[in-house]
Amino acid sequence: MRLLWIQAGACGGDTLSLLCADNPPLEQLIDEGLELLWHPSLSTDSPHRLRQIIAGIAAAQISLDILCIEGSLITAPRNTGLWDPLGDRSKKEVIAELAEAAAYVLAIGTCAAHGGIHAAPPNPADCTGMQFDKITPGGLLPAHWRSRSSLPVINLTGCPTHPNIISKVLAFLLRGLPIDLDPWQRPTAFFATTVHQGCTRNEYHEYDIEDVDLGGQGCLFFNLGCQGPLTLAPCNQELWNSRNSKTRAGVPCFGCTSPDFPRNDDLFRTEKIGHIPLRLPLGVQRAHYIAYKDLAQEAAPERLIHRKMEP
Ligand code: SF4
Repeated sequence: MRLLWIQAGACGGDTLSLLCADNPPLEQLIDEGLELLWHPSLSTDSPHRLRQIIAGIAAAQISLDILCIEGSLITAPRNTGLWDPLGDRSKKEVIAELAEAAAYVLAIGTCAAHGGIHAAPPNPADCTGMQFDKITPGGLLPAHWRSRSSLPVINLTGCPTHPNIISKVLAFLLRGLPIDLDPWQRPTAFFATTVHQGCTRNEYHEYDIEDVDLGGQGCLFFNLGCQGPLTLAPCNQELWNSRNSKTRAGVPCFGCTSPDFPRNDDLFRTEKIGHIPLRLPLGVQRAHYIAYKDLAQEAAPERLIHRKMEP
């Protein structure tokens, strides 16, 4: 299968993530038949050659199986997109044309899927996502758009996307396996459970043992802004670099796979009403949570209260 990777308004983080994939690694996918037509960091061909490839795809002389877009779609100034050109055209125009030719279109990262950090207020470059504008359906492509394979844009959200989500989705496509999508067009195989599941701080969360400062062993939900119980991603089940996750390293989950990322508030502080977090774990009712929190504190064992466990 032939893959073309285009970077729009991006920091390059998803490319670095791709290079860290280890299950399966990119080299294995290439051995299995993935052909990189072009990748901005891996190809040694000149930009002139890229323009030839794009022209060949547009003229139906080169078939395109997988189009990967990394980064927000820049539409400024005045919806021309010319702040981000590719040759003498806007990149957004080229990407929309390539999407029509591709069997599968992957938005790699929350920026490509929803606009992400670049689209945060005041959004000076008028950034948007491939098929969503933050949480609103319709981005560069309209909400009803479908690729040659009858699928919408497949959103692999994250800031950056988890390395093995990228490589596994590519492996699914290479092997002809079906991909089920959730309402945000993310593969359910990777976005059906929360970051909270598998976190080593779960026991502290259970008994409402909270850290107030970074560097401790307790849960980071109640004071330090952790979004793990609200965020769908496999970060604590499939570890990054087979080794770690943000919460295991003591950093709160920022909810970077969520369509509304980044939240317009302090990422290291939990907004509360009284002593109860404003944003509760997915599906939990406030009245039930208030009752649970007080009971949990009463039931907390000494060994956790005095942080005698290793995180
Ligand atoms: S630190 Fe975050 S992910 Fe870990 S247990 Fe607490 S709320 Fe859940």
